[in-house]
This record gives sequence, C-alpha cells and structure tokens, in this order.
Amino acid sequence: MGSAGVRKMRKPRVYVPRLAREIKLSGREARHLAQVLRVRPGREVIVFDGSGMEATARVAEVTTSTVTLSADPPQRAEREPPFELVLFVALLKGDKLATVVRAASELGVSRFVPLVSERSVPRSIGESKLKRLRRIAIEAAKQSGRALAPTVSAPLAFEKLTAVSFGLVAHPYAGSRLAAVSWPRSGAVALASGPEGGFSEDEVERLSELGFAPVRLGPRILRAETAPIVLAAAAAALRDI
Ligand code: SAH
Repeated sequence: MGSAGVRKMRKPRVYVPRLAREIKLSGREARHLAQVLRVRPGREVIVFDGSGMEATARVAEVTTSTVTLSADPPQRAEREPPFELVLFVALLKGDKLATVVRAASELGVSRFVPLVSERSVPRSIGESKLKRLRRIAIEAAKQSGRALAPTVSAPLAFEKLTAVSFGLVAHPYAGSRLAAVSWPRSGAVALASGPEGGFSEDEVERLSELGFAPVRLGPRILRAETAPIVLAAAAAALRDI
C-alpha cells in the first residue's frame, strides 16, 4: 500500500502446469499475456501451479505465440484458508454447478463434491462437463489470487457420504439459523446444500447423523445455486479465512 492508499500495478497471475526456473508458455496463456496484457521483457508476473506453490517470474522473451518466463524459487502461497473447506453440492440442472464452482472458488472452497441426491434431476456428470468445472475452478482461483486450485470430485452417491468433524447442511426448515452457528476455530468445515427440489427429510436426518447440522439461511427460499454460495460466503466471512 502506498501513501495514497493505492496498490502497485497488479502482477498478472499465470497458471502453469509445472513450476520451473525457465517456463515457456504457448497457447492460451501465452496469447493472453502477449496480446491482451501486452507484457514485455522485464515485466513481473506470478506463476502458480494449482498445488499451492507460486513464484515471482520475469518475462524473458515474447514472440507472437510464446512467452518465456524466468522464475524465482517457488514458495508456498498465502491467501489459502488454513483449513479445508469442502462443499457438497447436489447435482443441479443446466449450467448451475458452474456458477457455484466459480463463486465458491473465489470464497476459498478447497474441494467440491457433487452429490447425487434423491431429488437431483441430473443423475451424473459427463466427463467433458467435469473437465469444464475443473477448468472453471482453476480460472476462478487465478482470478481471486489463490494459489491452490480447488478440486472437483467425480459425483458421489448420497449413500456413500461419510462422517465429518464439523458440517452444516442448508435446510429451509431447520430449527437453527446460520447466524447462530458457532464455528470451530480450527479444523476442516464441510458444507452441504440440496437440489432444486430440496433434500428429502430422510436425507437431512442422515446428514445430521454424519455431523452436518441443519441450518436455515433466512426466511426466503433461495435458488439451489445461491444457497451453497451463501454457505461458502458465511464460512469465509465469519471465520475470516
Ligand atoms: N423446493 C424446496 C427448496 C429447495 S431450495 C422446498 O421448497 O423445500 C434448494 C436448496 O437450497 C435446498 O435443498 C437447501 O439446501 C438450500 N436452501 C434454499 N433456501 C434455503 C434457506 N432459506 N435456508 C436453508 N437452505 C436453503
């Protein structure tokens, strides 16, 4: 922060499959850097590999289709929540999971587990859709300055859920309010939200046996893609992670 409270020009963040001393980019990332951001030799960027490491790098050479970077030794990145935040989200119709993954990645979710619940309309996710969700998670992580790209698991059958140490399930008819939750000071947090038709009563009961306490998110019914984002925002804001 300078004296006027203005931060220095942000260093572009570049996702690379592998951090190394010299990194030669081609394709999408190279075009973006060279043609959109118009980087020139000497410009500093941050490279990250999606596994929690990042490094400062300087642009060494720019051609029409490649950008070569010279990187400092990698370091573990900041901005990662110190504890795992896992979002179990029921399979949703259309492209709604993309909205959830994009926003919740910005909010610090570390892992998404799509759940095949009783009332989920889609019963699986195709390989290309799963790939796209993973790409969206990487893009959102990059945009928000995270070094760790959240993972997106293959869909999990509701019956395969296992116990969690601390969890919340969004349920419009729960007795407890989100505002009344006492969040653990450390350790992983698991969040769950249902499909368009909601979780069944049996599922809510099963979830609470597994350690997910039912909470209401207010008096209005939220859309199935809004509720998980509200849960993630609450976890991020209230634990200040
Ligand atoms: N049609 C269902 C509502 C489903 S809303 C019904 O009327 O019961 C989709 C999902 O969003 C729910 O399963 C729940 O996880 C979450 N949700 C929506 N609004 C909520 C609220 N006010 N409180 C808690 N969870 C909510």
